[in-house]
Amino acid sequence: MRLLNSFIEKSVALLFPNRCLNCGKITTLKYFCKDCKDAPKYITVKVCTRCGLPKKHCACKWNFYYFDEIISCFEADEATKRSFYSFKFGGNLSGGKFFSHQMAERLKLHPDYLDFGIITSVPSHKSTVIDRGYDQVKVLAKDMAKALKLNYAPLLYQPNKTPKQHESANIAERFLNVSGKYSVLKNSDIKDKTVLLVDDIKTTGATLSQCARELKLAGAERVIAVTALTVYPKQKNNEQ
Ligand SMILES: [Zn+2]
Ligand SMILES: [Zn+2]
Repeated sequence: MRLLNSFIEKSVALLFPNRCLNCGKITTLKYFCKDCKDAPKYITVKVCTRCGLPKKHCACKWNFYYFDEIISCFEADEATKRSFYSFKFGGNLSGGKFFSHQMAERLKLHPDYLDFGIITSVPSHKSTVIDRGYDQVKVLAKDMAKALKLNYAPLLYQPNKTPKQHESANIAERFLNVSGKYSVLKNSDIKDKTVLLVDDIKTTGATLSQCARELKLAGAERVIAVTALTVYPKQKNNEQ
């Protein structure tokens, strides 16, 4: 039986070889080829737990966030975005497991790890999911739920499509774009629970904040936002 399994595994690897998430080359390694193993840029600097930005860029003075905390794994530099996009847009679903695994590992270090109640995801509009063929945020959240032994529940929906955030001119517009655009599904049982709210990339935090607001109005006690990537504000030349 073991021989048969090994034969099947080898045949699958031959038919569907792993491709490096960063450069796309075929690799015998799981997610990155040996030249790209350091491509994803882990967040290692101290960040503000409320807005997720390095302390010198803390945006809490200007923005109000309905989530209580945000946890993110990677800085969205070019190589990390390229690697993530091969999952998000390129259909490399097994590559998503790299990101969900890293996110779950981060959460296991959280002091309240055992008090997490439920995992949900920021929803995409159904037309986006149909076009892409999958909801990448839901894929991440479900993988994480499995790793953390928590229940995944789709708690939110997006009745109307929101304008693409990157087409907006400024932060105020981004917050305005998503205001009132998300709703909690009826009969969602989240009263007094700590909800992990998963998204793929955090830019301003406007979408996460709006979703957290709705979850709190529906009874959630605490909302912890979790993203794979965070976009840091552009640094000036004289900054490190
Ligand atoms: Zn590579
Ligand atoms: Zn802050």
